Amino acid sequence: MLHKLHINFIANLLKQPLQQEDELCLYLISYASLLFYIVVHTFFLICYLVQGIIFFVFLNCGSLLVYTVASFFLKEKNYQPVGFLISLESILYASIGTYMCGISSYSMGYFLLTIVMLTLFPFGTATIRNTTVLAIFGLIAFLGLRSRHTPPPMVFPPSFSHFMAMANIYIMLMGVIMEIRINAFVQVIISGLKEGRLVKLASQIYMDPLTGLYNRRYTEIYFNTLKTQDQHICVAILDIDDFKRINDTYGHLCGDEVLVFLSNFLQSNLRKTDKIFRWGGEEFLIIMENITVQDAQTVMDKLRSKLAETEIPTKQKGPLGLTITVGVAPFDSANPDAGIEASDKNLYIGKRSGKNIVVL
Ligand code: GH3
Ligand code: MG
Ligand code: MG
Repeated sequence: MLHKLHINFIANLLKQPLQQEDELCLYLISYASLLFYIVVHTFFLICYLVQGIIFFVFLNCGSLLVYTVASFFLKEKNYQPVGFLISLESILYASIGTYMCGISSYSMGYFLLTIVMLTLFPFGTATIRNTTVLAIFGLIAFLGLRSRHTPPPMVFPPSFSHFMAMANIYIMLMGVIMEIRINAFVQVIISGLKEGRLVKLASQIYMDPLTGLYNRRYTEIYFNTLKTQDQHICVAILDIDDFKRINDTYGHLCGDEVLVFLSNFLQSNLRKTDKIFRWGGEEFLIIMENITVQDAQTVMDKLRSKLAETEIPTKQKGPLGLTITVGVAPFDSANPDAGIEASDKNLYIGKRSGKNIVVL
């Protein structure tokens, strides 16, 4: 149940039109902090009301007002004023609380919450955040020194003062835990997003954009994954016959259509395990595993004759005929260049002998 809620929460979060990763951080911490501080100050408001301590009733009303304004900014996805208001309120609350009730009230805990928030989350520039943290250190020194020499102007009944000190300690600890957990959670999401992006980027690097086939760059990686032991591997290089004429007669766009058709034709007429690469302009390299060269030649010849009998539908110029010449050779992944060279040589022989042929 909790897991499902968690997944739904992430899914909803990612649906939000959050522009940048930083924004995801700011959105989450702003949302959680506002909720946290509104609950805390409502709780304090009730406590001080019950005790009839009017100064702190007003102080907490003021805090709630600040968070109401901040929630309007959050609604507008304007995070910087949210961070400013949260920091300002907690710094003022901690200072006034310590000034009025002394160090032992543990009001200074709100300084810790602000410091952690400014350290972990990108509210404002680094300079602004570091300066604010330094200012907090200054305030702590001032308030500490002052309370050493001056008794606090407000004294609560001992049991209430003890209760409030305990409440402040708990709130400080819970707030810090919340901030650290939100930060960790965002980091996990961000690294996931980055990974997804990297996978997409990697696939673009190794993919031919026109045909969607692997490109030449990927061959080296693929050859390293091939295990030559205990199996026959064959390579075929396939080249469209007189492709330049197709381009010259019907135009480059029509040539592109033919290339896309041929790559689909290869994919649907070869085995799933046969890897097809766009090797060059109108040349394709095919690696076939677990097949003898004779069988590879037969497969390629069937493919060639089927293609020669197929009318290629083009949007540009209607149906066209197409033939290919193929060179086949055995392949050893320990020496890929030798197999490729041999099949290239056979391709050349096929071209010289009149094209539309498979040569082994
Ligand atoms: P052969 O039968 O000897 O192979 O002759 P050919 O005309 O097919 O070979 P050639 O190497 O003379 O020409 C290949 C042509 O392929 C030239 C080039 O403009 C074209 N080509 C290369 N890449 C693309 C592409 O992505 N799209 C299109 N439309 N044409 C391309
Ligand atoms: Mg060529
Ligand atoms: Mg050609």
